[in-house]
Amino acid sequence: MIIHKAKGIWIDGKKTMSKTLPMHEYLNPPFVYIPLLQQASPLKRIVEIGDKVAIGQTVALREGFGAMPIHASVSGTVTAIKKVWHASGRMVEAIEIQNDFQNRMDESIHVQTDVSLLSRNDLVIKMQQAGLSGLGGAGFPTYIKYQAKCPIDVVIINAVECEPYLTCDYMLINSYPEKLLKGLSYFMRAADAKKGVVAFKAYNTHIKESLEPLLLNYPGIELYEVKDIYPAGWEKYIVQKITKKSYSGLPAEAGAIVDNSATAIVFADVVEKNIPLISRVITISGEGIKNPQNFYVPLGTLVKELILLAGGYIEGLDPTKAWYIAGGPMTGRAILIDDLIVNDTLGSVIVKPMPEELKHPACLGCGKCADLCPVYLTPTEIQRAFESKDTKAIKELNAQKCMQCGLCSYVCPSHIEIADYVARAKELLRKGA
Ligand code: SF4
Ligand code: SF4
Repeated sequence: MIIHKAKGIWIDGKKTMSKTLPMHEYLNPPFVYIPLLQQASPLKRIVEIGDKVAIGQTVALREGFGAMPIHASVSGTVTAIKKVWHASGRMVEAIEIQNDFQNRMDESIHVQTDVSLLSRNDLVIKMQQAGLSGLGGAGFPTYIKYQAKCPIDVVIINAVECEPYLTCDYMLINSYPEKLLKGLSYFMRAADAKKGVVAFKAYNTHIKESLEPLLLNYPGIELYEVKDIYPAGWEKYIVQKITKKSYSGLPAEAGAIVDNSATAIVFADVVEKNIPLISRVITISGEGIKNPQNFYVPLGTLVKELILLAGGYIEGLDPTKAWYIAGGPMTGRAILIDDLIVNDTLGSVIVKPMPEELKHPACLGCGKCADLCPVYLTPTEIQRAFESKDTKAIKELNAQKCMQCGLCSYVCPSHIEIADYVARAKELLRKGA
């Protein structure tokens, strides 16, 4: 599909909320839980209860497509294999590791002295060995993109962070601007691309200020400013703007690879120190949280511990009646409790008091959802077709073109999760195909 003109609106980002406090490093939770699931792939556990593990030690394997190791994020003892709530909205089996607070590192973690000698293939192997996956929400194994057969002209770092409330990428870039550029330069070498671009949103002037002075040392890397509208961070839109080429499947068809900024920052440590993917930054925010802020944590940390560190819930909010969203409010998923774990795809948890209207939503027929859909869909018609299981109509209404940006739900005055119906209609079509 060629996007001739991308639609979008300015929305209140509510980002100041979690930007006022500095990033909080919480590196030693008493327990972490390494989920035995990555994207939709179950993982093979290779440790037993009672085993001692070091930071960075392989504890599970993803097999088949996207095969790669998954690592312990703290040192300690495997104390249980148990089910935990996961960002996917379901309970998944996980390896429980009790922290021994000794921060013992696996022997595979060491400074790489000959970075300049690493070949393109060495860098791709490093991505795989590090279990590097996209930290922007998709969790796709990064090395797969760098095995593309077509020539790559440009690697684009998507630092747009379009979703309201989320500031995890923003905080990380401002803390580690040089690492971002290093990570991007290693990605460029791995793709044999001459050009690198960091795309960021116009209002994020701090990103520009922190990166611009460093660019002299990184030939081939430039900044690209996108408008302050949603969904300006949509991958397809950014790729087409930068490459001036359209594509139907993957950005590689337009000679581009897109990675998230946090993934690039982790990759700098993968290359230079052989530290695998074991930590991330997560935003804990929303009107239901006393002191919204960002936390730098080992993967597998419990979100409820972070909510306590953020001062807990606002006065009068009953946690059992709060509205929790895993991920951003536009594309995230409503979850039932705060008892979930931080995994690679979880960039934020938003907590809000439950709006009254959510209990009895009724469509007003206002048409706002269709007016603002960036790919010109009519979500209410798709909802009706879905409810009557009419796959022919779903197809004719082009539900498969939905990019799940969540804009239709966001603008709906009745707070109907209309994007969910479109997603379920797409799924019905996929299963029926
Ligand atoms: S979620 Fe899908 S239907 Fe809704 S606005 Fe976005 S693209 Fe359109
Ligand atoms: S925006 Fe909401 S109320 Fe308006 S037509 Fe769409 S679903 Fe109905």
